Amino acid sequence: MRRVTIYDSRTRASRLFQPLHPPRVGLYVCGLTPYAPAHVGHGRTFVFFDVVARALRRWGYRVFYVQNVTNLDDKLIARAAEEGSDPLALAERHFGDYRHAMERLGVRSVNYYPFATDYVPEIIGQIGALVDRGLAYRSEDGSVYYEVAKFPSYGELSGQKVEKLRPGARVEVDPHKRSPEDFAIWKAATPGEPSWESPWGPGRPGWHVEDTAITEHLLGARYDLHGAAVDLIFPHHEAEIAIAEGASGLAPLAAFWMHGGLLLLSGEKMSKSLGNILPLDTAIERAGPGPLRFYYINSQYRSPLDFDPEKSLSESAEAYARLRQPFDRIQQALALGGDDRPGEEAPAGLAEAAGELVDQLDTTLAEDFNTREAIASLFGWSRRLSELGERLDRLGGPALVRLRAPYDWAREVLGLLEEGAAAPSGNWSKMVGVAIAARARARARGDFAEADRIRDELQRAGVVLEDGTSGTRWKPVRTE
Ligand SMILES: [Zn+2]
Repeated sequence: MRRVTIYDSRTRASRLFQPLHPPRVGLYVCGLTPYAPAHVGHGRTFVFFDVVARALRRWGYRVFYVQNVTNLDDKLIARAAEEGSDPLALAERHFGDYRHAMERLGVRSVNYYPFATDYVPEIIGQIGALVDRGLAYRSEDGSVYYEVAKFPSYGELSGQKVEKLRPGARVEVDPHKRSPEDFAIWKAATPGEPSWESPWGPGRPGWHVEDTAITEHLLGARYDLHGAAVDLIFPHHEAEIAIAEGASGLAPLAAFWMHGGLLLLSGEKMSKSLGNILPLDTAIERAGPGPLRFYYINSQYRSPLDFDPEKSLSESAEAYARLRQPFDRIQQALALGGDDRPGEEAPAGLAEAAGELVDQLDTTLAEDFNTREAIASLFGWSRRLSELGERLDRLGGPALVRLRAPYDWAREVLGLLEEGAAAPSGNWSKMVGVAIAARARARARGDFAEADRIRDELQRAGVVLEDGTSGTRWKPVRTE
């Protein structure tokens, strides 16, 4: 297993990553509350943690990646009431769209998406433990509140003082709470809303305890990595710590807390109230999934990323096309001739450099998942290969395979170069080769009408030809 350092937001330090039960790694990422379609900001978080899971797996860790689905909460209930639909059905629909978007973006590392409402018995069990330990109390209306004053380290993660959280005169104090900062972990039933029986009367879970009951059940009272975007630190993660550590008596809940920076739209956080939300599906349609994924991870994950709706996606698509150009040429050459196609050797030292670069890419990424620097190194590689010019197209199969290694790494770990790249393998690409050879023979005998006809037919079939000094290359027609 490779040596990995991770910045932990709770201790505010980079530390060597040591799983509790190596090689197993429990990874939990706060998932979507699907009351509305996912927006372009969500994509950044979930693509980044997909890279984390891919990388750890490559390095020999056995990652169990859980991402919950908050399929019942106040926002879902309010939105469903507006639409006259059922909150659970509404959540199901948006979650389906979200999964489809993730699939298009190449996010396939999540092992399990637990739905909160499937864990009500575990949630009630955890609330019961808190009540037994004197950390939570039932109010007169049948709700259960967490008593923040009983958990001294509350506020440590976010660096907030509990006194500061006390509202001034401007905030109305809830008469059911002992103290204003207390939060509901069980909400007394309201007519017309989903509810479950409990020792405290009918009701439904509060948001924070859904996550902690799920993680306790699936990952244990303590686990390795907790991830999310930075806007969930307070109050959500602060509450998760208070609930989980309070209920189990074990700390820390997560050995490492990883918080990704937000995607800002023209300098502001995307929010419904500001009306500046770009849906994820729209962004995928505009940029294509590959360039969008590239855009997300071509930044340091903890920094905010300023998204410019006019420029970001087009600039990223251009850069991504530059990055992948030598890769596409290699794939095309291999698709036509096979991995053992005859040709020249790689220039001295270049194949070795490819292997060294792969090692360096792993090292770079193992320093707190520095995707930005890894991508910068890949650009360097693309420049080197581009400098070979036409010579690249004359290389033999074994040389091409070796020079492709850094791109293979990018596909495996970063999830880039996946779409369209799929070197149309096997018979299909051989048939394109047959058609190209037939066209070359037609041109050789001066039958240019026939040559053009073959070219046009291929184009209609989705293949574009490019004639160069060292022969004819082809590439798939881009549909994205
Ligand atoms: Zn959460």
